[in-house]
Amino acid sequence: MTTEGEPPVILWFRRDLRLADNPALERAHATGRPIVPVYIHDEGSAVRREGAASLWWLDKSLRALSARLAERGATLILRRGDSDAELRRLITETGAQTVFMNRLFEPDASRRDSDIAHDLKAEGVECRGFNGSLLCRPGAVLNGTGGPYKVFTPFLKSLRAQAEAPPHTTGPTSFGAVATLDSDTVDDWGLHPSDPDWSKGFDWTPGEAGAVEALRRFTLSALKTYSVGRDRPAEIGGSRLSPHLHWGELSPWRAWTAVEEAERAGQAPAAEADKFLAEIGWREFSAHLLHHFPTLPERAFRPEYDAFPWLDDDTGFTAWTRGLTGYPIVDAGMRQLWATGWMHNRVRMIVASFLIKDLLIDWRRGEAWFWDTLVDADLGSNSQNWQWVAGSGADASPYFRIFNPVTQGQKFDAEGRYVRRWVPELARIPNKWVHAPWTAPPEVLREARIRLGHDYPRPVVDHAEARDRALAALKAISGGARADD
Ligand code: FAD
Repeated sequence: MTTEGEPPVILWFRRDLRLADNPALERAHATGRPIVPVYIHDEGSAVRREGAASLWWLDKSLRALSARLAERGATLILRRGDSDAELRRLITETGAQTVFMNRLFEPDASRRDSDIAHDLKAEGVECRGFNGSLLCRPGAVLNGTGGPYKVFTPFLKSLRAQAEAPPHTTGPTSFGAVATLDSDTVDDWGLHPSDPDWSKGFDWTPGEAGAVEALRRFTLSALKTYSVGRDRPAEIGGSRLSPHLHWGELSPWRAWTAVEEAERAGQAPAAEADKFLAEIGWREFSAHLLHHFPTLPERAFRPEYDAFPWLDDDTGFTAWTRGLTGYPIVDAGMRQLWATGWMHNRVRMIVASFLIKDLLIDWRRGEAWFWDTLVDADLGSNSQNWQWVAGSGADASPYFRIFNPVTQGQKFDAEGRYVRRWVPELARIPNKWVHAPWTAPPEVLREARIRLGHDYPRPVVDHAEARDRALAALKAISGGARADD
């Protein structure tokens, strides 16, 4: 045993990279024993591995957490390998008899953690999990017959009726004395991309302080006009809290109560605050659905959609990933994603609809691309939203509601500011044609210095034809009962 005095508590950090409002940390502190904070980079288990953009975030968030712990006299121990084996090694090294963690609710992670807890218990080590990532633990919000909600509005109502905000806590100021333990460094893990470093445009401040600042800025400004602003991709109309919430740098309760307080203080109208709280509700709904329907990332929630006649269109998929479809709003979104690790919500819906319905490419390919490129990639939210757009999900948008990328662009980016920012080839085209450059007269294109097919692609599909094709494909699986938009 290498600790001084009584056995410490191991605090196993995962996606709760914060000290404030951290239930596992609070409970560890309440034992009165020294705390050994550890993060295990586990690449080998059955849990889906983080994508490249997520690893970029993790790299910075771990550095921030480590610095924050150091300020309070604690060292974040970093280990790489199998979670079970690394925990055991740490238990042997420290003599700890207790492991505390905030639970991961994704089915594979949850199963792995239960196995670990079960095995450790058999060896006399207490292993306890808490809820630090959701307003309500999955399984706690059930309908009148004790089953999961499949429709969002009653889910939100029930969630709001029973979820109760815990008091805000700032975390312990001292972690107790623990003898030195072996630790990797964040650099050892090479999580930041190199050769090439594609993250140069990632303009984020990962870590707890960055999360709290983003929340503060949002409640003071964009919240006032959130319901409209959130649909304007050229503006910062939303909170941009998604990666911070995903990595647990901020408790969802902190975001929730800050917005309620802003409303009470008269800083934002009630309708705006409510809209934001409903979006936090969608995050919750996604996590709860994944808990109850563990195949959500792989299988259509409505099973008939698994028979959908998807196309194996690699050329279309590549054009989509690179932002070269010839539809400006789609291309702008895909380029924003690549350049910044994030995409505006309205545009996520447009690009997802384009992949699924204009190109007839399986939503799972889109989900996987988002998984690798989003800094907020989240198994529940990503798969739930992809299935929502596909029409195959719970409470999904009907399949026959097909986003028109031109009219969506004209409606939500009327002046083309978002498009021009991410698709500079179109910088000089007048507003009238910015969302459909192929309709511009030749002299307009000449003046804007655009040679279609050279400087900017012609559309990879004709939207009207693609729409008919998508509806025909839907007919093939549904008998056409709903293809009546
Ligand atoms: P705000 O508008 O400020 O909303 C506040 C918070 O509410 C967000 O940070 C997020 O945590 C939550 N939220 C908002 N909208 C949704 C939603 N539709 N579903 C679930 N939670 C929501 N969000 C992710 O966090 N991870 C994903 O992997 C993800 N994949 C998506 C894939 C597709 C195809 C689509 C259409 C949406 C996806 N979203 C995902 C939801 C949404 O686009 C992002 O949460 C949002 O754009 C984040 O920006 P924000 O923080 O400014 O959101």
